[in-house]
Amino acid sequence: HDDYRIALYYAYIELTPSEIQSHMNIQKQICDELNLKGRIRISKEGVNGVLSGELISLQKYEELISKNIQQIIVINNNSNNKSTIIALDVKYCQLRKELPIQDQLFDRLLIKETKTVISLFDQSFEKKKESKKDRYRHEKKSIEIKSSPPYLDLQSLHNAVMEESLKPARHLSANEWNKKLDEAGLSSSSNSNSSSALLLDVRNVYEMRVGHFVHPTTPTLLTNTRKYSDLPQLIASNKEIKEREQIFMYCTGGVRCERVSMLVRELYPDKQIYQLRGGIQKYIQTFKNENNSTTSTNSYFAGKNFVFDPRRTDPIHFGETIGRCLVCDLPHDDYDNGHAPSENKEARCNKCRMLVLICNDCRPKYRCHNEKEKE
Ligand SMILES: [Zn+2]
Ligand SMILES: [Zn+2]
Repeated sequence: HDDYRIALYYAYIELTPSEIQSHMNIQKQICDELNLKGRIRISKEGVNGVLSGELISLQKYEELISKNIQQIIVINNNSNNKSTIIALDVKYCQLRKELPIQDQLFDRLLIKETKTVISLFDQSFEKKKESKKDRYRHEKKSIEIKSSPPYLDLQSLHNAVMEESLKPARHLSANEWNKKLDEAGLSSSSNSNSSSALLLDVRNVYEMRVGHFVHPTTPTLLTNTRKYSDLPQLIASNKEIKEREQIFMYCTGGVRCERVSMLVRELYPDKQIYQLRGGIQKYIQTFKNENNSTTSTNSYFAGKNFVFDPRRTDPIHFGETIGRCLVCDLPHDDYDNGHAPSENKEARCNKCRMLVLICNDCRPKYRCHNEKEKE
């Protein structure tokens, strides 16, 4: 297991249409040579990738891709004679020891040209209107903006956040993050009972259900959103966010916070906004105890980090089980009930296909999406 890794990274770098094409070809060539599989999104504003393979191959990949991106930057900035050093900051994640290696590797390589590195808004707000693909048949209408006026103009919000070049909030390392959180708790306790800070989880509900930040003095807002593009409306209307002065936002690997921090600043220009550098993944790797990965005196992250690769969750696990069985409410945080995620035995809602936590005792009593009626 230790020879293999899942690698994730993103880089914001402006690319012309021809650079996108040549970079896609180079990515394909390098991945094929090194036998790496996974997903790579390439757009005019940057690259976002998750790959599986041997550690030495992934390290070679990082070296080659960094060089290539460096060349593009040098060419683009030639007239100004500026050269920025690009750090891909690839996060190398370990496989789960209890599952076979082959079940945790991607089985194909998908290199795709996209409009953005990651889009915080529904496709319908893009300049070229595309047909809206709605995956959910019974979308909850709970996130209506009742607090308006002022009326929330999502189109202008989209333009201010997505059409502008990236200006994220201050990135905090794992240690800076802890220090700032502790300070926020101390400074507010002398004045009032409640902290002026708020931890903001910008991930989806099924991700935060198996693990999230728990700090003794600063509360965590679990947005319980179904998808990333539900966030603009929620952030614009949420009372907790409106009231707090400092916002500490985090996501899996950091990329989702890049645009959400711009969104929060656009809506609340006076707030102090911080984002976790490298996301939960970098954080848990910083505080991981080599001997026992389930305990850490320094980690405010509790539970598991949900990931969008064949592992479903990262093997590092802090504290007690955060998740609860949807049926009996007992601690449970394995969507796959002991199976490898690649076996497709995970529990999903019959109607909307969302991942749901159902414990091993309750599981045989319920029929989940795509399962045949039990006799
Ligand atoms: Zn149960
Ligand atoms: Zn449902």
